[in-house]
Amino acid sequence: MSEARRPVVLRGGTVLTLDAAHTVLTDADVLVVDDRIAAVGAQLDVPAGTEEIDARGGIVMPGMIDTHRHLWQTAMRGYGADWTLTQYFVWYYLEHGRAFRPEDVYAGNLLGAIEAVDAGVTTTVDWSHGLQTAQHADAAVDALQAVPGRFVLAYGNIQDAPANWTTSAEFREFVGRRMSGDRDLLGFQLAFDVTGDPAFPEKPAFEVARELGVPVTTHAGVWGATNDDGIRLMHDHGFMTPETVYVHAATLSADSYHRIAATGGSVSVSTESEQSAGQGYPPTWALRSHGIPVSLSMDTTVWWSGDLFSAMRSTLGADRSREHLEAHAKGETVTHAALRAEQVVDWATRGGAAALGRGDLGSLEVGKKADVVLLRNERSPVMFPVLHPYGHVAFQAQRGDVEAVIVDGRVVKRDHRLVGIDLAAARRTVESTVEHLRSTLGEDAWTAGMNPEVPETKVLDNPYTYTDYRSAATHEVR
Ligand SMILES: [Zn+2]
Repeated sequence: MSEARRPVVLRGGTVLTLDAAHTVLTDADVLVVDDRIAAVGAQLDVPAGTEEIDARGGIVMPGMIDTHRHLWQTAMRGYGADWTLTQYFVWYYLEHGRAFRPEDVYAGNLLGAIEAVDAGVTTTVDWSHGLQTAQHADAAVDALQAVPGRFVLAYGNIQDAPANWTTSAEFREFVGRRMSGDRDLLGFQLAFDVTGDPAFPEKPAFEVARELGVPVTTHAGVWGATNDDGIRLMHDHGFMTPETVYVHAATLSADSYHRIAATGGSVSVSTESEQSAGQGYPPTWALRSHGIPVSLSMDTTVWWSGDLFSAMRSTLGADRSREHLEAHAKGETVTHAALRAEQVVDWATRGGAAALGRGDLGSLEVGKKADVVLLRNERSPVMFPVLHPYGHVAFQAQRGDVEAVIVDGRVVKRDHRLVGIDLAAARRTVESTVEHLRSTLGEDAWTAGMNPEVPETKVLDNPYTYTDYRSAATHEVR
């Protein structure tokens, strides 16, 4: 991205810098020159020809970072709203995940990537575990490169063992062809899970990651799927490193958390996912007590929403619910909330940058990469007064309030509208993928997949007999 572009200044906003001291500035400007933050402060002098964005009354913050998102699944948005992990595993591992052609991965990735940028998520880790062939991987990358956001391809393939696909000739060829260049706008990770098999069959895949110098991201502590055995095997073999990202980490023992903390890794918490799918209780309350760094993620829009406002909100709720519940079980009362709105905004920005080893992202400081979001919505009764800016971001704002987005110094959303993005083309592409999947599966299976059986709920016997208390009361008065 070397072409000259106009400098941009956002004028007069409440600026959440998310610097180390979490400095908040009111009536402040943020100046972007080329791909960098050039200045932050009051009434800045700017170069001639600078594009001005009015940020008065709004909140200016760093672009948000989602560290775990299966973008390919966006092609089936909302289909699994009533699923648990049980239906998910059947669908993606055994049935329709296999029916995804390269063009279907492209369709999901394209729409998901656009959706991310639109919601102010300027960096998304595409946890792309549907890459059955290198052609699928090419399609995934083609889509990411068609959207002006920052992405990390976390390469994975749930249809084959990690030791197989990571050592295949076609994977090597793909890496040499597509992933050997500048990793600023398109980073690279390996994405696979550790089964806990004592033979540690994932060892060759970890060795490939080490040789390539790329981080591993892994679903860890997922009830019924991955557990402490996987963590112990990784640790015993020396594969737990600071750049390792553990996704969910919701059902792990204190011993596993100690191992993660001691080796400097971080956890990507997907609260909406953990609350619905059944990986385990959203673990921030435990991670905080072990001093484990946290980033946030939305996992997949096949079930739930895809923006980090939802992540921040649900994470605050889950953490506080747990604290109250634990206290009440002991007959105690929580009088002061431990997890603050400020902290989840940090996790959605700075925390994500740290998890990805990107010290140049996640805050608005001079010299950092210019990924900037303006929250402002003059038509919304919810965007004023802004009294507690972090609380406003976490509990009041939503994706419709994202007025402007800058990625790598380029304005990609302005006045609530995406710039230079062909949404109609993305819609056509996704429609043809839905048609393909639906016809491949057949109408009955398609409908059944979306509507899992509802377990019977027994209504409890009630010791009180129903009486019509209103007429009884009327009778007494008479
Ligand atoms: Zn996941």
